[in-house]
Formats: sequence, C-alpha cells, structure tokens
Amino acid sequence: MSRDQRRAVLKEVAKEYGRTGYNPDRAITIFGLVTELAEIMDKRSNSRRASFAGAHAIKVYENTARKYGYKGEKGPVHCKKGCGYCCHTRVTATALELFMLARGIRDRWNDANDPLKERFRAVEAQTRAIPREQWVPNRIPCAFLAGGACSVYESRPLTCRTYASLSLPACIDWFNGAQVEVPHPDRNQLLRVFILAAMKAAMANAGFEIAGFEMAHGLEIAMAPDAEARWLAGENVFAGVKNDDFSGRPGGRSQGHEAFDLIVEVFKTGPFGKDMPPNPWFSW
Ligand code: SF4
Ligand code: SF4
Repeated sequence: MSRDQRRAVLKEVAKEYGRTGYNPDRAITIFGLVTELAEIMDKRSNSRRASFAGAHAIKVYENTARKYGYKGEKGPVHCKKGCGYCCHTRVTATALELFMLARGIRDRWNDANDPLKERFRAVEAQTRAIPREQWVPNRIPCAFLAGGACSVYESRPLTCRTYASLSLPACIDWFNGAQVEVPHPDRNQLLRVFILAAMKAAMANAGFEIAGFEMAHGLEIAMAPDAEARWLAGENVFAGVKNDDFSGRPGGRSQGHEAFDLIVEVFKTGPFGKDMPPNPWFSW
C-alpha cells in the first residue's frame, strides 16, 4: 500500500476514533489512542504530560469498557468491593500510571490524619526485599489493600482495573495455593493488552524506557514532587525498582510476552504510517 493510501486509512481511523472512541470490534481504532498518547507525550511545554497521558489511557479504558461492555461475556463477573483475594500479588505499572497515581493520592499522602501513607509504608517496607517469585506463593498483600478493599480505587493502575474474574471459587482456590487458571472475560484481557501496549508505544516514540515497574516501590519514588519533571527530563528516577522484564529470570519470557512485544512494535509503526512488522492483528 502506498504512503498516500496509508495516510487515507489513518485519516479514516482518526475520524472514526473521534466519533466513537476505541471500538474493540474494530481493532484498528486503537491506533487513534496511540497517536493521541504520542501527541500528549510530545507536548514538551506540559510538565504534567506523563501523568496526563496515564490518566487519558485509563479514561479511554473506562469509557471503552462501559460502552462496549464485557461483564456478560461468558457469564457474570464475580468481582465485588471487599473481595481482595486477587490483591495479594505483585502489581506492575508504567511510569505514566505511577505519576497519575501519585497525583491522584498526593493530598491524602500529605494529610497527617489520613492513614494511607503510614499503612502503605508498613506493608511496602516488608515487601520490597521479597523476590518477585515469592509474591504469589506467599500471597503478599498489595500495600494499598485495606480492610479487603483498594484504598486508592479511583487512581489504581490499568492492571487492577482490568482484572476481572468469572469465578470467585477459582480466585479463592488460587489464593489458597492451588494451581488453577482463574477464568477472565476475553474482551477485558484484550482491552488491557492493547491499552497497555498503546501507553508503551507512546513512551517509546517519545524516547522513554517502556518497562513496567513494581507498583509500590515505584509509587514511593513517583510521590516526590519533582519526580515527574525529572523523569520527563530524562533522569532514570525508577533505577533500582524491579521491573516487568522477565529476561533471564526463572520461567523467562513466555509466548504471551513475545506477542505483547510484537503488539508494541506494531503500535510504534502502524499508527504513524510506517511499515508494520508482520503480525496477526493489523495490516495495511
Ligand atoms: S478477581 Fe477474584 S478475588 Fe478479585 S475481586 Fe474479582 S472475584 Fe474477587
Ligand atoms: S492497587 Fe488496589 S486494586 Fe490494585 S492490587 Fe492494590 S489494592 Fe488491589
């Protein structure tokens, strides 16, 4: 396909995205989100562009989930407030989400009467030294889990928002150490993968590292008032935080990781009219 033809396709996609937002039944409309995030990250005059991009990606996820739904797919979702078995695991988040989360909770963090920071630090201090492989077997609670509920619900990262179960008994079995697959709605999994890849592609195109970081340790760093500005200026503020790179770790990288990397490569090229690597999802 010629460059002009690609441009025409992208123009149509942008129009459609402008009208309907991301439509998971028309996968290519995700290109609209990728270019939007890239534009936000390009606005160098905006010193909050990282947290803004993270918040925008989350808003698109919420709008898409609300509009196109997933809850009735393959049966009802069993998730309810106060059901926190799934919050006993290690969560990673992109830098964009960490800065968004930091902005979302800053007032509470600085409020001496709010127990959030103290509670967070008590759990985080215990968990930071734990190797990633021990999180799941030991059912380590997330530092934000309080009384069975998420204490940062409005600001929680994409991974938490998109995690949904079709079987509470399977979640309980998992929590109790059984080797079970918790069934998830397929559409929600797809939304998670594409929106996360869109964030990572936008960061890569703006020249930033795209790793996801262990949420609690990363958040502690992101809470510094100048952390976002320093990260945007190119400082590796998250150095030393465990990331989601599985290379060289027990279990290594799975086919799922390879597929995810390919989606990121597609999003770094296709939405900008460049040659996409061969892939099963998108073509010109
Ligand atoms: S994923 Fe499982 S443990 Fe988590 S809220 Fe849903 S049903 Fe409860
Ligand atoms: S941030 Fe909230 S939803 Fe996510 S794991 Fe922690 S307590 Fe659970």
